[in-house]
Order: sequence, then structure tokens, then C-alpha cells
Amino acid sequence: MTEDTKISSQNFIGTPEASLRGIFPDWKPYRIHQIFNWVYHYGYRDFAEMSNISKVMRAQLADRFHFSLPQVQNKTHSQDGSIKYLLRLDDGALVESVWMPSDSRKTLCISTQVGCRLNCSFCLTASLGLKRNLTAGEILGQCMTVNEDLGKEDAITNVVFMGMGEPLDNLGPVVDALRLMTAPEAMRMSTRKVTVSTSGLVDRINEFQKENIHINLAISLNASDDITRDRIMPINKKYPIKVLMDCLKNYPLKPQRRHTIEYVLLEGINDSDDDARRLAKWLKGIPCKINLIPFNSFESSEYRPPPDKQTFKFQDYLIEQNFSAFIRQNRATDILGACGQLAAESQNPSYA
Ligand code: SAH
Repeated sequence: MTEDTKISSQNFIGTPEASLRGIFPDWKPYRIHQIFNWVYHYGYRDFAEMSNISKVMRAQLADRFHFSLPQVQNKTHSQDGSIKYLLRLDDGALVESVWMPSDSRKTLCISTQVGCRLNCSFCLTASLGLKRNLTAGEILGQCMTVNEDLGKEDAITNVVFMGMGEPLDNLGPVVDALRLMTAPEAMRMSTRKVTVSTSGLVDRINEFQKENIHINLAISLNASDDITRDRIMPINKKYPIKVLMDCLKNYPLKPQRRHTIEYVLLEGINDSDDDARRLAKWLKGIPCKINLIPFNSFESSEYRPPPDKQTFKFQDYLIEQNFSAFIRQNRATDILGACGQLAAESQNPSYA
């Protein structure tokens, strides 16, 4: 091929099976699965080494595709064992992923956008605005880079889409990444161990449902009345609480599965006894567990977490009403690695 006719090379990481089938219509599907297995399960990054694939096919792949993963720009270790990764993408953009170990699991919190456009008043990522969406390869690549960096012993067992960005505002690439992440012939993660967190984009939740990917959904509710939610999460003006709750009620869940409701506790804003009562009322009839997240502070924030006593009282009321309610142990707060504290781009003024 001459320079003029050469098709520009694309990142193999994140390329969906359907695209590969379109590019190579004569290939048997199991061939694509074999290649996925080399890449996502065995970690190969060179088509030439894929010994059960014909030389011709390997050459065709190498003509069209290359491998690119986010690069580790910096690592910050928290006292609780978590590690915050600052990752550099091909165009110089930076995102953060946070690896959190516990006895039974290793959870990676990943980003889906550089910045975010939802402008929630309690979230530091909002201050960046939306710079751009991540590609499926960049979303998946966060897991692959961290796994390569930490080695087998510390390999990720769970993934939460709770880093920078609103996953459902970048639906296509998120869906492509989820398919590869959970496919038995690719990354092989159990759908039970993957959670996508959303601020409640109702139309997108409905679209996502049609994709038939049965991962866990976490909904950031964060308020018990529309006036408060309008104020702290402007997206509520488009999708008010009732509309969001109706959407969850109609969402078909597999047996034994339930939604997660996230509720960031902000002192004096949404943490009163009345708030707990209203919250319980909204959630009646929705299969869910509730994660209460005491606000994680950052320098420019006007909010504070409630005193522990009020947090426990809030939880107790929900438990009395027969909900499973947990106070989420905040991880990595000492390194600004907790929920709502990720703002990698602020460290990279050249990417504005
Ligand atoms: N955009 C998605 C995912 C990113 S935020 C969403 O809204 O769900 C992940 C979680 O962190 C959300 O539940 C969000 O409400 C919460 N969060 C954001 N800022 C926070 C902060 N400063 N302290 C505690 N939780 C926060």
C-alpha cells in the first residue's frame, strides 16, 4: 500500500467485536474470540505472537491496528492501601483511576470522561467542565494498565465507573467497554462485579437497558426533594426525582439483583430526619441498597459532612424502614482519591 491509500491505524484495545466482523467479514467469529483472548486475557500486545492465528490474518490485523494503553504519569499511595493513578492518554489528556484493596477484593474506580459537564455543586470534577469523552479503549485501558503495573497478585476483581465523568453521557464507548470487560472471551469479569454509577440521565438509562448488559447500576440520588436536588445536581431540572424513581421501578432486574442508591450526605443540606423520611418514601418498592457517602471535602468546597451522630441516625432510620443502608467507608481521602475528589486535569494546564 502507498502512503496515500494506507488506512490509518486504529487502537485495537476497545474495538468492538461487531466492528471487527465488519472489517473482516470472512473471518469465523471464533477467530476474533481467539484474538480477544490473547489480548485481554493473556495480555499480548503483538499480533505476530498469536500462534494459533494464520500469518495472513496477523498481517491484516497489523496493517489496521496498533495497541495503545494509558501511560502511568504518577502514582499516589494512600495510608489505607489505595493507590491513585494519574494516567496520560495519547493526546496528553490526564485522567485518574483509583485502586482500592480490601481483604476479599481489589476494586478499580475508573473514569469515563476528561472532566464532566453535569456541574454537581459538591463534586470537584465539575470544576473542569467537559474536555472530552474517553474512547472505549481508554476506558478499558485503565484496567489493563493498572493490572500490568500491579501484577497478578493484585489484579482487579471489581470495577466501579465512579471516577471522573458521567458514564451515561458517553454511552456508546461505555457500552463497548462493558461488553469487552464482561465477555468470557475477552476480559472475563463477572457482571456482578461491575458497577456503573450515574447521576440519573433517565433517557440514557432506558437506552442502556436495551443493551442487555446486566451489570449493576448505581444512582446518585443525593437529595430527597426536587428543590434541593435542583440546586446541587442541575440535571434534576431535566429528570426530576419522580421521573427517575419511575424509571428505576420499570427497570428489569435479574433475580437477586438490586440497584444501588448513592446519597452524599451534606451537613444542613440533605441530612435531616425529614430527609431520611422522604428518602425512604421515594425508595419504597424499588429493589435497592443505599450507600450513604459522607461528603469528601476539597479546598474550594462550601459543604461539610454531617457529624457522625447524624450520619448514624440517618442510617438507623433507613434500616428501621427495612432498607439495607450502609455508610460507605471513604477511601483514599488523604490523597484526594475519594468520590468527587478527582480532577486530574487541573494538574495539566497545557491541556485546556
Ligand atoms: N457521574 C457519576 C459518577 C461519578 S461520581 C455519578 O454521578 O454517579 C461517583 C459518586 O461520587 C456519585 O455518587 C457522586 O454523587 C459522589 N460524589 C461526588 N462528589 C462527592 C464528594 N465530594 N463527596 C462524596 N461523594 C461525592
